[in-house]
Amino acid sequence: MGSIADNIGGVTRRIQKATKAANRPENSVRLLAVSKRKPAGDVRSAAAAGQRAFGENYVQEALEKMAALADIPRLEWHFIGPIQSNKTRDIAVHFDWVHSVDRLKIARRLSDQRPEDKPPLNICLQVNVDNEETKSGTTLESIPQLATDVLQLPNVRLRGLMAIPDPDQSEESLRARFRALASMLNQLRHAHPGATGLDTLSMGMSGDLDLAIEEGATIVRVGTALFGAREA
Ligand SMILES: *Cc1c(COP(=O)(O)O)cnc(C)c1O
Repeated sequence: MGSIADNIGGVTRRIQKATKAANRPENSVRLLAVSKRKPAGDVRSAAAAGQRAFGENYVQEALEKMAALADIPRLEWHFIGPIQSNKTRDIAVHFDWVHSVDRLKIARRLSDQRPEDKPPLNICLQVNVDNEETKSGTTLESIPQLATDVLQLPNVRLRGLMAIPDPDQSEESLRARFRALASMLNQLRHAHPGATGLDTLSMGMSGDLDLAIEEGATIVRVGTALFGAREA
């Protein structure tokens, strides 16, 4: 592995190449650097290389990093892990985005607990596209109603959909998962023409980001390819 700055450069070029190959506009895909279980110093190195958006899965760990990095302006924090309802306040107060909302109760708490002096919290609904019992995320079928309900909440802004398909499946079935997510976002946009901001497909990780971009990803979440393997 190269330095974190080199890795960011490499992944950024990979994103640009995939975006161009898909005939999509330049800069239509953002890189979310997943810094979970990596030290604040790694985030600092990435920020020095121009990276702004960071993804975290564990609330306590994220809060410690935010405090250690408070001197860096304009960092953007995205919560991407499973959400326990007793953690929603810390998430609502300290994060800019949440990708992993999978039930109305959580969305309602995030809206209720979002501080009045902050802009609405950007949220994505997490879809379990593999329909596996063990995985987090809700079913594709439940998304239209959940989206309708979430759009009523005053202090969250519904931005789109997120999925983590099992990477151990054929390219063909992975593509079908990404496509199903993109098609659901389109359906929501048609159903809610007045909902500004329904513009996000958070899909694609280190191994499958090129395919995800081909199918319309607007945010790819990359950890290992930037920061190296995480310790067990
Ligand atoms: C850990 C994680 C990633 C990054 O995975 P890598 O394989 O390290 O690139 C992306 N999305 C979510 C939700 C994660 O938990």
